[in-house]
Amino acid sequence: YRIREVETVSTTCPHCGTGCQIDLRVKDNRIVDAVGGDGPVNHGLLCGKGRSGSIDFVHSPDRIRTPLIKNKETGEFEEATWDEALDLVAREFTRLRDTYGPQTLAGFACSRSPNEDIYLTQKFVRTCLRTNNVDNCARVCHSASVAGLAMTLGSGAMTNPIADITGDVDVIMLVGSNPEEAHPVIGMQIRQAVQRGARLVVVDPREIDLCKDADLHLRVRPGTNVAFANGLLHVMIAEDLVDHAFIAERTEGFEAMKDLVADYTPERVGEICHVDPDMLREAARLYAGAEKAPIVYCLGVTEHSSGTEGVMSLSNLALATGKLGRPGCGINPLRGQNNVQGGCDMGAQPGDLPGYQKVAADGVVEKFEQAWGVDLNHEPGIMATDILAMSARGEMKALFSYGEDPVRTDPDTAHVVKAMENLEFFAIIELFMTDTATYADVVLPGLSFAEKTGTFTNTERRVQMVRQAVIPEPGMRPETEVLADLMRRMGYPQPTLTPAQIMDEIASVTPSFGGISHERIEREGGLQWPCPSADHPGTPILHVGSFTRGLGRFFPAEYRPSAETPDADYPFILMTGRMLYHYNNGTMTMRAPGLAEISGSSYIELNVDDAARLGIPDGGRVAVSSRRGRIETTARVGTRVSQGETWMPFHFADGAVNELTNAALDEYARIPEYKVCAVHVEPV
Ligand code: SF4
Repeated sequence: YRIREVETVSTTCPHCGTGCQIDLRVKDNRIVDAVGGDGPVNHGLLCGKGRSGSIDFVHSPDRIRTPLIKNKETGEFEEATWDEALDLVAREFTRLRDTYGPQTLAGFACSRSPNEDIYLTQKFVRTCLRTNNVDNCARVCHSASVAGLAMTLGSGAMTNPIADITGDVDVIMLVGSNPEEAHPVIGMQIRQAVQRGARLVVVDPREIDLCKDADLHLRVRPGTNVAFANGLLHVMIAEDLVDHAFIAERTEGFEAMKDLVADYTPERVGEICHVDPDMLREAARLYAGAEKAPIVYCLGVTEHSSGTEGVMSLSNLALATGKLGRPGCGINPLRGQNNVQGGCDMGAQPGDLPGYQKVAADGVVEKFEQAWGVDLNHEPGIMATDILAMSARGEMKALFSYGEDPVRTDPDTAHVVKAMENLEFFAIIELFMTDTATYADVVLPGLSFAEKTGTFTNTERRVQMVRQAVIPEPGMRPETEVLADLMRRMGYPQPTLTPAQIMDEIASVTPSFGGISHERIEREGGLQWPCPSADHPGTPILHVGSFTRGLGRFFPAEYRPSAETPDADYPFILMTGRMLYHYNNGTMTMRAPGLAEISGSSYIELNVDDAARLGIPDGGRVAVSSRRGRIETTARVGTRVSQGETWMPFHFADGAVNELTNAALDEYARIPEYKVCAVHVEPV
């Protein structure tokens, strides 16, 4: 790693999955400013997180700067050399693997790290821990998209490019997504599209700001997405708004789908979802009647115990109306973390090797055994949420985590703490001493996005460069070097490769990345996979002509209520979400003084009528409790949420909302139900 003598370094934003290009101004090895770069998505735009939140954390005095080993006697961390720390990690993982078996070990990859780091993390888990128990944070955000879109279309990714769905379109169907806060540059572009004349249908329990410009706001009750989508399809079929030729030529399973939605009359769905049946009819007509109408969605669809079925239900709408494989349409999940797309693409999934090559498919593991020169485990691994559940039961012995903070970010904190405490050995790579890192036996210092080189893949499958802007402090090492060192200490002959060489290895074993290299990305400014060969231009729109799985498949799903619904003891529904000023657990954005000043502590949104009944004023302190925990926070009283519903941001340590949330899991993707749990609220 050598820093180029430049004052401006163009790189990719380390926050959300939009993938904005950002120009870092560097002076005396410090980032002094960040401005919007001319990227294919942002065209010079940046939000506050990219502008302010990308600087201060890099140089924060709180950074972990040296390996740390926990003293078993005192429970305190003590500074160690890299040799001491890596020897201990290698020794303990080897001992526990050989004592209890590889299936009692697991690894989490970091979806904020570059593709090259993620690839090497999953390679470490598979070759050295000898298990496929490797996962990434998509498990708790968009695993339902990966599963649901793969089952219906064949590829678990956004079908169309961002410029396409925010450009010259007729109708935008925005479901369970608040892009002006969670993906602000895409949010701005959607607003601009509406100002140019696109019609907007918002499907969301909350009154997000885009509702003011929407033609329709269907304020569905949380947890009723499947019923909503079935109701829309019922109307489309009843009013003959579907595309018969597309259904006949390119899909399968329509008759079973038609039978299922026959019972989802607008009146019945109106009762389930608490919406006006005529608004359902109007939404169906608007969407089905438009030539260009993308479905754009986010965690309001996925983070349910029926999350995968929610995704597939949206897919059914696009299949029925032929809105796939062409510009301005498709079904488009907005991915949360900067490189959570890469987390999945690079094989940090228990069932998939890089490029979604299935562990269970004939010949796939054998191919990687040949490429990597080692025997591999042939059993699909365990998903992250099940890994934590196993650990809580005492069945998981050791965990390697790179940049994940499940104690703060996974549901039901008490359950996660128990999982952490039960581990016999836990090693973590981190920038800061997070809630999760405090449970580790060994903490290894990580490098920020500004201190290393690699690639991030944004929500539209575009692989873009991450360029080193500042030289790390003495003694800090890039994770690719650390992982290779650790692999050698565990007996696997992994050479220390440059990030460009690692990408070449990725291309050699991953057909969808076969034509991607750093040299090409530098020259062409980003490539959208699949890009199978050096002369392939990349694929902006998926499923043109045929679906990745051949025929698109309708998936009939019945509506099921959420795992926990309100009752006399816990009468409110609690939803959670991201806000404009912060990013996930806040380790980066909370260190930006401007952002922390604007928004420094948690709050709960309450409906004005509920607040009046409970005697809670705007700004009053409240206690919020669920069957799993109790927190105190500040009330924001208004009409953003409906009566009987509440909402909290998930970023904060004070009033940490995951003390309350429910770890009920979706059947297919094992994603937790962050978006619906039952709570009690009272003034304090
Ligand atoms: Fe960064 Fe996302 Fe903001 Fe763009 S929209 S600057 S990628 S946080």
